[in-house]
Amino acid sequence: MHPDLESSLLHCRNLPSPPAIALQIIELAQDPDVDLGAAASVIAMDPALSARLMRVANSPLYAGRRRVETLAQATTMLGLNATLSLALGFSLARGLRAIDSAAAEQERLWKHSVLAALAARLLGEQAGLDKLEDLMLAGLLQDIGALAMLQARPDAWLALRDGGRIPVTPEREREVFGGDHAEAGAWLARRWQLPGYLCNAIATSEGSPEPSSTFEGCVYASGAVATLWLAEGDDDGALRTAAAARIQAGGVGGPGTLDSLLAQMASAAQGFGALFDMRIVQPAHLQAIIEQARELLVLRNLREIQETARARREADASREHIRNLTEQARRDPLTGVYNRMQLEEALEREFSAAVAAGHPLSIAFVDLDDFKQINDRHGHLVGDQVLRQFAQTLQRMLRSTDLVARYGGEEFLVVLAHSNEAAATRVLQRILDETARTPMAVVDGHPLYVTFSAGVATRDGEHGQFTCPRSLVQAADQALYLAKRRGRNQVGQHGQ
Ligand code: GH3
Ligand code: MG
Ligand code: MG
Repeated sequence: MHPDLESSLLHCRNLPSPPAIALQIIELAQDPDVDLGAAASVIAMDPALSARLMRVANSPLYAGRRRVETLAQATTMLGLNATLSLALGFSLARGLRAIDSAAAEQERLWKHSVLAALAARLLGEQAGLDKLEDLMLAGLLQDIGALAMLQARPDAWLALRDGGRIPVTPEREREVFGGDHAEAGAWLARRWQLPGYLCNAIATSEGSPEPSSTFEGCVYASGAVATLWLAEGDDDGALRTAAAARIQAGGVGGPGTLDSLLAQMASAAQGFGALFDMRIVQPAHLQAIIEQARELLVLRNLREIQETARARREADASREHIRNLTEQARRDPLTGVYNRMQLEEALEREFSAAVAAGHPLSIAFVDLDDFKQINDRHGHLVGDQVLRQFAQTLQRMLRSTDLVARYGGEEFLVVLAHSNEAAATRVLQRILDETARTPMAVVDGHPLYVTFSAGVATRDGEHGQFTCPRSLVQAADQALYLAKRRGRNQVGQHGQ
């Protein structure tokens, strides 16, 4: 650092110094073994600081979480690192503010710091950084050098400000003090033994040396944004350009970032300022920009909502499509009932369930009688029509828990869960009666009727001889064969 600046700081009798509690927190932050309990017990010694941390934990910055009632809950919710950063920020903000002379300028500098802390946090959030409290702290402390310079040589500093009409540039500071406030701040931070990341962020906060990370880029941009916010309005244009340029140069945003950042700050400023006992109002000279940016933000949110809705609709549609495809793969294309593959799966499942629960399970083989003749007499298309109509009749006459599958050709297999032999036989007989009086097709104006033969087989407690679905199917097939032999148009049972 320039010797002039260093000596004026060193010789300043009332150079800002951290309050006792801040010193303890700095010490804690350097202790690798520190835990939340230790941090909380130091903070608990300062009731105002404890209250403030609880206020942060309940503030919209951490909105949506459970309401915090105690300091322990607050520190647990925030985590060790955030707790230490916030505690340090609050204790320094309070301790360093208590100094006397040039009160108005001091207040302005603190307002600038608090606004910069907010801007740095929001920029970091947008850039996807995680340690937002560290960023807030760095934003807040970037101007401690200015505070020290004001304290060391109040007249010189105030002359530089020229009654507050012009913002102080680092160049002008160097002319008058031999160094700028970033340099002074970094020097002070090192003397206070603040963590290295803070010293570096303060050192690079005016761009020389250049910020070397996104974190430092956020701090670098935040100061210019705070300056724009606090400007009286005369040189708005230049300050806006400067802030936008820093956002870009710091690598933390593009052309639209500044305006949307200002709108976000306008929404958050009041609550954020209150955490530091500070009233921050929306600057009149930025009103138009903020309103326009808010509208854009609202529009962007709206677009995002629409995008999300569209994406969800597309996902639903593709799920539906997959469901349809899967369902198609399970069905027989001609009749729409389940195919043989699906039948085997379902039968396996029903069989295991029946064995496990000890309830009866019946199946029935159903084979149309003399179907070949229908094809021979009326052609295959009529045969197909009969198959479709018959499958529909089967399905209509069964319970929704029963299952119909086309086994092959004009053979169908019906699975009747929870039905014993007598019940299954009754159901099949009812279907046979209905089939016999329902025309399955109309040929040359004449209704076409068919009959079927069916073979029922049941697995239950008494007839526990079936050990697998295949043997049950074979038994049903035998029963069907018997029914055919006995003259067709009837329902046979296995073991009759
Ligand atoms: P039974 O009473 O002994 O069962 O005599 P059936 O004529 O019904 O039996 P068979 O097994 O001799 O003939 C079945 C016929 O079913 C033969 C075949 O051409 C016909 N078939 C099989 N699948 C289809 C199909 O998808 N569409 C049509 N139209 N006919 C089919
Ligand atoms: Mg057949
Ligand atoms: Mg047949």
